[in-house]
Amino acid sequence: MVLLLRYRSLTINLTPLIPKSHKFHTLQSFRNPNFISTSKISASSNNPTTTTNRSISDAAKFAKSVLFIPPGVEIEELTDDMVLPGSNIVIGPFAGHSQIKEVEFVKSSARARDCPKDDRPEIAILGRSNVGKSSLINCLVRKKEVALTSKKPGKTQLINHFLVNKSWYIVDLPGYGFAKVSDAAKTDWSAFTKGYFLNRDTLVCVLLLIDASVPPQKIDLDCANWLGRNNVPMTFVFTKCDKMKAAKGKRPDENIKAFQQIIRENFKIHPPWILTSSVSGLGRDELLLHMSQLRNYWDQ
Ligand code: GDP
Repeated sequence: MVLLLRYRSLTINLTPLIPKSHKFHTLQSFRNPNFISTSKISASSNNPTTTTNRSISDAAKFAKSVLFIPPGVEIEELTDDMVLPGSNIVIGPFAGHSQIKEVEFVKSSARARDCPKDDRPEIAILGRSNVGKSSLINCLVRKKEVALTSKKPGKTQLINHFLVNKSWYIVDLPGYGFAKVSDAAKTDWSAFTKGYFLNRDTLVCVLLLIDASVPPQKIDLDCANWLGRNNVPMTFVFTKCDKMKAAKGKRPDENIKAFQQIIRENFKIHPPWILTSSVSGLGRDELLLHMSQLRNYWDQ
């Protein structure tokens, strides 16, 4: 019953988001604690308004397909308050200390193989230029000017490592999609960032930032598809959710819905997603908690 209430409170109609071509191999299962089954549910049972007449097994299937259920949580034990507000993320027993007490810049690396070589887990932050990445990092760590990534097109792009609480890294990756960047610079970005994703064993998850104030962008969808195809665990972090005025004709909730709608054509299981605003602080604590459970599970 509690679950059914949660379904009605979801404002965005979600469908599973693992690429259909994707094969869930051992590494992915380990790195991405998302053990949701891939069972398909009918379009009608995906509609929150129809949930009241559903059997428990239908409800369970629905929950499995739209919620991010971490290890240690049984679907039958789910309660409404285990789902983080403004997200599809269930909080489980691995969630723990999440606040950032100290952060120090460690290094900028031009190549994946130059990144720090200790075994600390890391969470990388990625998004289109101007998506709000620097603002989000500064909001998470509650400091100004922590994110150092160059914003100038064509300038050397670096992987920036920040050590948090002496135990894990936030990794600020170069933004993609500069309007004015040359083809050569685009290729460089691709090669070096892809090298990072494919070779970085300590990468727990990528936060893929999506600007909720604009309609879905092809470049973001391409990036999500590429990460999915390569078994890189990701969380969609919708930014600028405070911008209630229509930008290019749509509000954030409409843009988010449209994004989900498009991406579901390529994916089977929905990765975690969360709404944020660096201006109002929306989703900050929730995102930190989600990051803590991913990290702690990885770290055990
Ligand atoms: P980056 O290029 O991805 O690092 O983006 P920035 O953090 O520099 O932000 C780009 C622009 O979006 C700036 O003008 C920010 O003030 C604005 N911005 C970033 N986050 C938010 C947000 O949560 N809400 C609003 N309204 N504006 C934001």
